[in-house]
Amino acid sequence: MNNILVTGACGQLGSELTLALRDRFGRDQVIASDLREPEGDLALGPFELLNVLDTAELHRITESYHVGQIYHLAAILSARGEQSPQQTWQINMEGLLNVLETTRVKKLEKVYWPSSIAVFGPTTPKTNTPQHTLSEPNTVYGISKLAGERWCEYYFEKFRVDVRSLRYPGLIGYKSLPGGGTTDYAVDIFYKAIEGKTFQCFLAENTYLPMMYMEDAVKATIELMQAPAERIRIRSSYNISAMSFSPRELAQEVKKHIPGFSIEYRPDYRQTIAESWPQSIDDSKAQEDWRWTPSYNLEEMTSEILEKLPILLD
Ligand code: NAD
Repeated sequence: MNNILVTGACGQLGSELTLALRDRFGRDQVIASDLREPEGDLALGPFELLNVLDTAELHRITESYHVGQIYHLAAILSARGEQSPQQTWQINMEGLLNVLETTRVKKLEKVYWPSSIAVFGPTTPKTNTPQHTLSEPNTVYGISKLAGERWCEYYFEKFRVDVRSLRYPGLIGYKSLPGGGTTDYAVDIFYKAIEGKTFQCFLAENTYLPMMYMEDAVKATIELMQAPAERIRIRSSYNISAMSFSPRELAQEVKKHIPGFSIEYRPDYRQTIAESWPQSIDDSKAQEDWRWTPSYNLEEMTSEILEKLPILLD
């Protein structure tokens, strides 16, 4: 019972986290799963087609692969969620409950589930947002994450399920494309910059949001899951932080490497979502409890992506 199952493994986070878990624990110890077929390196290890709403299939896979831990990443993200609220609620909520219940019934060792800064809303303090504060999200995605956090804590308190969670900020990676979030611009910008195209940004130039480089998100996730259980004092979800910037600041950073880069601002419905979220996050509880510290700031992240992405695209 010591193998790992990853749901939503073909997504922006899953495709990198799964490979990092395989590097660490062994290729055959980490079973990737998703609604869609894997590509690239992800296809080199064990994979199962799995809809997280399918309880019987989740049980079958858990048993046949001797799964002891689940990283439950499958979800519909913030911007896409607003296009189909009912379906988003169903996948995000029923999917999580299925995974929590499977963990309980099958007596699995532990479970990881990501929350998001989307749990916060327009009434939340915007800067240095505390761990415990007003949380009145106004997107279906945020509502599902907030409800999910309450369920996670409930399963820990009531059934001693070892559930661990992080409230990710916007995640920025260059190895895979984002899946419909409000911070996706901060990934797309690098592709357009390298292609020499003008980037049309769907957020206004001074929209500050908390962000994190994918390397740090993967590091934080594995560190949280590896920490001794007694160090995990928050069982809803930890605030976690690395950097905050606006589209204008990111564009300026890109221009240091690609002086001809140009950007136009055409805010759309995602601007309203972004404005309901915090601008910076207080992650002191994560620092205290399991010694969280990020490795990348805006400059370091931009340099690394602009160095490595062209090689990947070649
Ligand atoms: P993504 O959209 O890139 O990937 C989600 C994956 O889930 C996709 O591959 C999709 O096919 C799969 N999926 C959707 N419905 C499914 C279902 N019913 N059954 C099985 N698989 C299904 O998302 P991501 O960026 O990789 O996010 C992963 C997790 O991290 C999510 O829980 C998300 O809420 C959270 N998160 C992400 C960010 C971010 O900026 N990317 C920020 C905060 C939190």
